[in-house]
Amino acid sequence: MFESLSDRLSGVFDKLRGRGALTEDDVRTAMREVRVALLEADVALPVVREFVDKATERAVGSDVLRSVTPGQMVVKIVSDTLTEFLGADSSELLLDVTPPAVIMMVGLQGSGKTTTTAKIAKRLKEKERKKVMMASLDVNRPAAQEQLAILGTQIDVATLPIVAGQQPVDIARRALQSAKLQGFDVVMLDTAGRLHVDQALMDEMKAVAAASVPQEILLVVDALTGQDAVNVAKNFTEQVPLTGVVLTRMDGDARGGAALSMRAVTGSPIKFAGTGEKLDAIEPFHPQRVAQRILGMGDVVSLVERAAEAIDVEEADKLAKKMAKGQFDLNDLRMQLRQMQKMGGLGALAGMIPGLKKAQQAMAQSGANDKALVHLDAIIGSMTAKERERPAIINAKRKIRIAKGSGTTVQEVNRLLKMHQEMEGAMKKIRKMGGLGGLAKMFG
Ligand code: GDP
Repeated sequence: MFESLSDRLSGVFDKLRGRGALTEDDVRTAMREVRVALLEADVALPVVREFVDKATERAVGSDVLRSVTPGQMVVKIVSDTLTEFLGADSSELLLDVTPPAVIMMVGLQGSGKTTTTAKIAKRLKEKERKKVMMASLDVNRPAAQEQLAILGTQIDVATLPIVAGQQPVDIARRALQSAKLQGFDVVMLDTAGRLHVDQALMDEMKAVAAASVPQEILLVVDALTGQDAVNVAKNFTEQVPLTGVVLTRMDGDARGGAALSMRAVTGSPIKFAGTGEKLDAIEPFHPQRVAQRILGMGDVVSLVERAAEAIDVEEADKLAKKMAKGQFDLNDLRMQLRQMQKMGGLGALAGMIPGLKKAQQAMAQSGANDKALVHLDAIIGSMTAKERERPAIINAKRKIRIAKGSGTTVQEVNRLLKMHQEMEGAMKKIRKMGGLGGLAKMFG
């Protein structure tokens, strides 16, 4: 996520980073580039202005220019300002009431509302051991209620039985009553969407909110729609008391602008980011981490958290010891590929590790998509133990044998070997980088 904005900004700051003395002009020039980068990333114009003014004022008005590393200081100021604009802290769901707590989901059709309802239900069930019931109030779109029921079966979360012909407010009341009687902790109301914001929709949202008194009203918007998402959010904010925003399709080619504008425009925190179609592809939104990611500093904390869930501690420990010695062979690559699959595939990892992005782009270019991961595993599986430990001995003849054994081609074997080299390079780079205490811990 945030590819282009982060690339642009890294460019601006790479110029500043290593430098000693900066003049006020240097700062202003850098800020002009920041401005262009933000505009290109589709950040709303008033937000860009406010951002650049604030960051410039801080950078120029403080002692930055006289500090030892003014470049770094400017980077930090921009990073802090980004964090502030994204919303200072991560925001949890506030469900501290006598159960059942009500979460009302609102948004336009196609924004990912129903999927997100199921994703959040799954999280609450698995991570917080809540007993959750979902109810669809969408009586306009044919099959909307069935869609939610199917998702409910998939994630093993109860859905309110469908009563044909019942209207949204009555469904909401029935859901609450039923949840109370059956001892549910949380009721999630998946309201109807529309193609565009219209008054009938807003009136319906208000009526449902009045009848169900939700603790959380979450607006679901599609990050890929950029400025449109911001406008939709603005419209909803004016009519319904939102408590938070969920940005979906952050796995897509979002330019980052929607996230940056959202908080400033709605005043509501972004609580979650949707990162894929699968029902566990959702993450709490951490402004500080996202700010760092935007600046191209990598998101080591998220990576470590995800790794902690997926990683095989013993294997990781072995790898850490080898890496400490500067070794990274094909056994390690194989283990990495398997971890990657467990950690949500290549896309989910992209951009999280500084310096690894390039290697990952190289991998993507060499055809290493998630399906190909399985192929790569097979290629390594067809090697001898010696070959895995010392890839350098793999000559043309061996390549032919390996390709045959794995049902692939020599080109594919070559690609794998090249990828290994790229990754070995990236690993070395990570080792050299400072501030990776988290990573160090992860590798024992
Ligand atoms: P609704 O009309 O707002 O209820 O939208 P749906 O929940 O039916 O989602 C529409 C489509 O978007 C479905 O195909 C979902 O799988 C997909 N979708 C939802 N969230 C995400 C996301 O975070 N990333 C991606 N790639 N797809 C998503």
